[in-house]
Amino acid sequence: MSETATPPTKKATRAGNYFISNYPPFSFWSSDQGEEVRAAYDRDPIPGTPLGLYHHIPFCRRRCHFCYFRVYTDKNGQEIRDYLDHTITELERLAAKPLVAGRKPHFIYFGGGTPSYLSGRQLTDLTDRMKAILSWDDAEEVAFECEPGTLTAGKLAAIKEIGVTRLSLGIENFDDRILEINGRAHRSKEVWKAFERARAEGFDQINIDLIAGMLEETEENWQKNIEQVLKLAPDSITIYQMEIPYNTTIYKDMKESGALVAPVAGWETKRRWVREAFAELEANGYTISSGYTAVKNPERTKFIYRDSLWGGADLVGLGVASFSHVQGVHYQNLTEIDDYVAAIDTEKMPVKRAFRTNEEERMIREFILQMKLGHVKADYFRDKFQISILDRFARPLEELTEEGLLEVIDDAIVLSRDGLLCVDNLLHDFFLEHHKTDRIV
Ligand code: SF4
Repeated sequence: MSETATPPTKKATRAGNYFISNYPPFSFWSSDQGEEVRAAYDRDPIPGTPLGLYHHIPFCRRRCHFCYFRVYTDKNGQEIRDYLDHTITELERLAAKPLVAGRKPHFIYFGGGTPSYLSGRQLTDLTDRMKAILSWDDAEEVAFECEPGTLTAGKLAAIKEIGVTRLSLGIENFDDRILEINGRAHRSKEVWKAFERARAEGFDQINIDLIAGMLEETEENWQKNIEQVLKLAPDSITIYQMEIPYNTTIYKDMKESGALVAPVAGWETKRRWVREAFAELEANGYTISSGYTAVKNPERTKFIYRDSLWGGADLVGLGVASFSHVQGVHYQNLTEIDDYVAAIDTEKMPVKRAFRTNEEERMIREFILQMKLGHVKADYFRDKFQISILDRFARPLEELTEEGLLEVIDDAIVLSRDGLLCVDNLLHDFFLEHHKTDRIV
């Protein structure tokens, strides 16, 4: 950083990861635990454990300035087909292992990148081949992420035809200027068209994603975003608070200019924006179902991928940079497409880093992930891990109760709205001492 750098204020948005998606943190995973992954696949499944599939499509029309995923914007049709072929080979091999053989996935998730970047024909071909290897007959949910500008009527029909139950539209913002400044490929006109077409196709569930605190977001525009969401009336809305991880274009620019604070709203403002959005959504009949999500009909609108994963399901990830969790072993695939393809070609498992959890780490993982729902039942942990979470975590629970961030009610931990809005920041308190890393807020 240069000598002229401005010191960050307490709640300013600094670079780093705020969102906690797994435990133990990725920095503890290592490249020498590949053997643990092979051993996990060689064991029989634990009875009653659901199985899920995640397929990573790493292609996008354009790289968003806030993006921290492995994505490619320059691959041609042949390279894409070649990549998809390799993911099928990966699935064939894993499906033959004792852990997976004979099981049917309970949920399937297409993430990226932009799964809707694929053509209708590529999608149909890919999913036909996936189904021939592992039947989707028992799948309760097939979720699919989309970029609105890629959704033609024909493609939406193909997405519906392959069995997608939840379509997730990455809208992020409704203002064209803000979309452009943040490097998004789509524009608001495409959002409305895509949404209408998706409704006409009759998907069980349409989710939209928004980000609070994009570059140049304003109070006035945020209110307009909420109004537009209410007009669309999706089945669920997911709102993320903008974070600036180190591998984003925004961080690169910060580094070049010597800035310590990202040019986006601070955490207090972002949280107030989400609070206001949640309040408006509740006033219009929605229910808040996690720190990020509002749903129109909680009885009907489920998040099976999320809830299964947060309850310890096996997840087999396919493709470059994908994440998996099998029999308590976390792993991530190689993060460069050429390395991934080369590993598959030479019949190696394309594992970049892995971590075998012990029982205590699995308990903490499920606990912190379920905290994101705003409601954690103690009896679940008594039944599954023979532990009282109220005793085990008595100290942090007491401190967070004093701060008004949660309460213990009838054998359950219930987060207040304040607690829910900063839930990722609270979770560090429950980590094992040697896993505690720097918080960025
Ligand atoms: S669409 Fe999503 S995955 Fe693609 S560049 Fe933008 S944020 Fe990244």
